[in-house]
Amino acid sequence: MQKYYTPDIETASRETIVALQNERLSATVKRVYENVPYYRRKMEAANVRPEDIRTIDDLHKLPFSYKQDLRDTYPYGLFAVPMKDVVRLHASSGTTGKQIVVGYTKHDMEIWDECVARALTAAGCTDEDIVHVSYGYGLFTGGLGADGGARRIGATAIPVSSGNTQRQVTILKDFGSTILCCTPSYALHIAETLYACGYTKDDIKLKAGIFGAEPWTNEMRKQIEELLGLKAFDIYGLTEIIGPGVAFECEAQTGMHINEDHFIVEVIDPDTGEVLPDGTQGEIVFSCITKEAFPILRYRTRDIGVIVRGKCSCGRTLCKMTKPRGRTDDMLIIRGVNVFPSQIETVLIEQGYSANYQIIVDRSNNFDSIEVQVEISSEIFSDTVKGLSVRAKELSAALKNLLGVNAKVTLMEPNSIPRSEGKAVRVIDKRKLLD
Ligand code: ADP
Ligand code: ZN
Repeated sequence: MQKYYTPDIETASRETIVALQNERLSATVKRVYENVPYYRRKMEAANVRPEDIRTIDDLHKLPFSYKQDLRDTYPYGLFAVPMKDVVRLHASSGTTGKQIVVGYTKHDMEIWDECVARALTAAGCTDEDIVHVSYGYGLFTGGLGADGGARRIGATAIPVSSGNTQRQVTILKDFGSTILCCTPSYALHIAETLYACGYTKDDIKLKAGIFGAEPWTNEMRKQIEELLGLKAFDIYGLTEIIGPGVAFECEAQTGMHINEDHFIVEVIDPDTGEVLPDGTQGEIVFSCITKEAFPILRYRTRDIGVIVRGKCSCGRTLCKMTKPRGRTDDMLIIRGVNVFPSQIETVLIEQGYSANYQIIVDRSNNFDSIEVQVEISSEIFSDTVKGLSVRAKELSAALKNLLGVNAKVTLMEPNSIPRSEGKAVRVIDKRKLLD
């Protein structure tokens, strides 16, 4: 079985990768300077000329790009090629704020397919596999991104898209899907539906899952792996950079290899913008160095993570990013304490609860309150009121221990928290409505 989709790149020496990056970076900078007035103005304001960017060590001289730049130039102001060369548009799902638009040339589509093909191959996918794609198809990059990678490998893609979960189960069973692509929260919902329909993992043929587009913990990974009888691989990406496939997990399951021949990664201090050394946690910043239509440079993802270098046990030399803890905008500040939803998820699952939870943040009399609602099984739910209150107290103590803030715990009836078919909504911050 083929282990790497592009072995020359995935196991290349650092010198080879850096040489490619240097050459591609300086060419891209020159191209955007010439073709995109918005970039030219930003570079002029920062007093940098294309000649100043010769190697990746010069990257820090370039100004950052922000989501706001995409909004200011909406819809096509950052495109670096004429519209006649653009063969596809995608738009971000708009998790936070107004939607943004990106474009791809034919060559960009090839790059994207290749990035996803690497991810699928790392998860053991070959042309014999049946790839069940339950990411949404449409403007969201998930569905068509996974589909393109599967086609590139020659696997059989089933474009189920998201939703109609009972039908997903029927198709998994009847069509013999071997690889599932969807958000981790939807994978869990599919698993629940499988069991609710009276089947188990023995009735399906899944061997691997490629799950991403939202933060998820290793604890949640274990739950999904057990319920669906597969090995779960993480995949990372964002619309502004290319979509899924910016980084992908290998069998080591210890971080995602970044497709460094196409994207240069930096980690910065989100407050000062200073570039941080490898191994330090900070905001992840990407520069696209092969894309034609939308080659964004030094894009501030707002995702918080760590970059790890050195050869991986899988043999790949591409550097890895740890699972992002979430976005800077997802971080909750509760009475001055920083809390990520993923930390809460870890505690819940460690304490034996499901990943069906929601976090409700509110404020009254200038005092922030946080409530964690989590579903319990019907057996536990039928416990005495006293039994339930003991459980809630124990969970609250475990949360306090880890987060350092008091959280109210509400144990919820099974199936009372809305299920997600795409990106799960974990936090309801009522304070935002008050501001
Ligand atoms: P939107 O910004 O509207 O949600 P995208 O689909 O482009 O649309 O979302 C990209 C974002 O999704 C990333 O910046 C990151 O926050 C999140 N994301 C994508 N993949 C992962 C992953 N594997 N783990 C954690 N977060 C992820
Ligand atoms: Zn690896």
